[in-house]
Amino acid sequence: MEFFPPRTGEGVSRFKNSAKKLSKLGLNFASVTYGAGGSTKDGTLAIARELKSFFKEGVPHISCYGSKKKSLFELLKLYDSEGFSRLVVLRGDLPSGFGGSGEFKNAVDLVRFIRKEFGNKFKLEVAAYPEKHPQASSFLEDIQHFVEKVNAGADGAITQYFYNADSYFQFVNEVKNRGVTKPIVPGIMPITNFKQLARFSDSCGAEIPRWIKEMLKDFGDDREKIYQFGIEIVSKLCQQLINSGSPGLHFYSMNQAQPIIDIVSKIDLKK
Ligand code: FAD
Repeated sequence: MEFFPPRTGEGVSRFKNSAKKLSKLGLNFASVTYGAGGSTKDGTLAIARELKSFFKEGVPHISCYGSKKKSLFELLKLYDSEGFSRLVVLRGDLPSGFGGSGEFKNAVDLVRFIRKEFGNKFKLEVAAYPEKHPQASSFLEDIQHFVEKVNAGADGAITQYFYNADSYFQFVNEVKNRGVTKPIVPGIMPITNFKQLARFSDSCGAEIPRWIKEMLKDFGDDREKIYQFGIEIVSKLCQQLINSGSPGLHFYSMNQAQPIIDIVSKIDLKK
């Protein structure tokens, strides 16, 4: 399960309500995102601390693009001293006009840095893209870059969301053929708001299949129909992934509990 650091008092209450409800699902861990260039550093730490009180494990994300080694070293020391033992390690995206790339170019550089400076103190998760990272010059190159992150010391991966299970199965096969044995957990994005999802998907390169897009368009402003349709197709996707041996599911919660509770109530997780 993934949360983001809320920016307002109302957002904090919504986060806490959602975390409380979702804590009843018995998750392995819940993580919290880290804003571009460290823009949510304090918020990420505050929410990661909160997550520890709701879930078995609270996991901060950390991204490196635009950052200096010294500042990330200090942050990692702080995470370590506060007992965080797992991190989601990313390159991150920088908004235009944010300046240079700092001392790290890619997530693999941060994975290497953490292993060099902190040994095996942290379990490291990295990002994977079953439909290709939008900036990658080719799919095969992107797959190779993912394999490099694993070889540099990642313990597992969480994927970008997708609605086409075959893209995930194909990706897992491709990286297995290149020697990767670490778990690759599918990222699951509930569907509750078509316009927001379409905007997100455009920027992160996740495809909404035509039949889903057309159906959602037809529902127009009927939020209830969109919600029910979203629950149905996303729970079917989750069941298909679980039945085919996926090592777990990682939900992008958007700090909302109900869609995930409704999806999970429809799937048999023990298959
Ligand atoms: P990388 O692994 O560095 O890959 C980025 C691009 O560079 C790819 O095209 C890759 O093919 C290429 N590349 C990689 N290595 C090399 C190399 N050695 N040489 C040349 N090219 C290379 N963003 C945030 O800002 N904060 C978050 O908390 C956050 N959480 C996320 C969680 C998950 C599960 C996922 C899937 C994404 C998350 N993101 C987050 C978004 C992520 O930061 C962006 O997708 C970003 O564009 C790429 O990050 P990465 O870690 O995959 O980068």
